[in-house]
Amino acid sequence: MSEQQTAAVTPRVFRSTPRYVQAVGLIDRAADYLAPLKVKRCAVLCTPRSRRGEGARLLAALDKAGIDVQVTTFGGECSFREIEARTEELRAQPPVDALIALGGGKTLDAGKCIAHRLEVPVVIMPTLASNDAPCSALSVIYTPEGATETYEVFPQNPALVLVDTEIVAQAPVRFTVAGMGDAMSTWYEARACHTNPAGVTPYGDRPTLAGVALSKTCADILYEHGVAAVEAIESGQVTAAVEHVVEANTLLSGAGFECTGVAGAHALAQALTLLPEVDHNYLHGEMVAVGILTQLMLEADRAEAERCARLFARVGLPVNFAQIGLSLEDEASVSTLIEATLAFPFIGNMAVAVTADSLRQAFTEVERLGAELIDEVGDHPYRSLHA
Ligand SMILES: [Zn+2]
Repeated sequence: MSEQQTAAVTPRVFRSTPRYVQAVGLIDRAADYLAPLKVKRCAVLCTPRSRRGEGARLLAALDKAGIDVQVTTFGGECSFREIEARTEELRAQPPVDALIALGGGKTLDAGKCIAHRLEVPVVIMPTLASNDAPCSALSVIYTPEGATETYEVFPQNPALVLVDTEIVAQAPVRFTVAGMGDAMSTWYEARACHTNPAGVTPYGDRPTLAGVALSKTCADILYEHGVAAVEAIESGQVTAAVEHVVEANTLLSGAGFECTGVAGAHALAQALTLLPEVDHNYLHGEMVAVGILTQLMLEADRAEAERCARLFARVGLPVNFAQIGLSLEDEASVSTLIEATLAFPFIGNMAVAVTADSLRQAFTEVERLGAELIDEVGDHPYRSLHA
């Protein structure tokens, strides 16, 4: 069957979380939104640090609403070992009606896996806007040592996503900025998947126009409000721009990538996790940022690469490989990157052919663009956080 024929019979599928709620102070009102799920007893998955902070507020709110709680402590890695251990711990207790995962991306992804094994709905409460994990029906699984292992797909999206904008905005600004990198990729990758007749979502479906529209809006919001949001967070304020960017990073990006697909930007970001000196020091969204610029160079869309890099420089995302600690002179690392990028399952979603040579060329162009921009605007403002 030709690619054209395959595309003709592959259905368009739209999937999303049925309910997304975002507001300042939401954590204290969390129980109100659990009512439709008829929760009498629930599990809460969080880290010890989180339990002392926002977790304490959540537990107080649940207690006030008469909801019985079983806390289970997340060990820090979303690995099969951790998932099975937490599942067994909860199975040994009286059954729960739902599981609330409170924390960063790995806690949320682990929560989805544990709830799936317990066959109960999962409620997602992100404490960071650093990634688009909250709304999706998939989890990235890591080895106990922290290397990406695989991803697990669930029949349903999280039953409820509750985002307390104040909690998210109180985290170091670098996390929200990284989330902007992850969110920005959604549009460029959606464009590739939609343009390529063989492009598919992570679930093997064709992109929907709805998904493309959400992805486009996601990028538009970041271009329009990104800088203002970062300035507001730095001065401790939750403004409309912050609300917009948190929604873009969490809902628009999450539903957008699920209903369109990933391509070159995430291929490179995944490949970068194989280089320990990069993986240990930079966040997913920061690696994705360099991935976007690489994808745009592969697509020969230099104008858009420049537009994107200008925003990245203003908000504090990396604009080339040097800024994530990688020298293109390091042939061993470059070869690893090329090999892993080409092996990424969805690199075929790109609407242009990607080869080792075209990647090498794109890396060089990104490096040059970043260097020119740094010369022009100076070092970007959050470099110290990236060290
Ligand atoms: Zn991502």
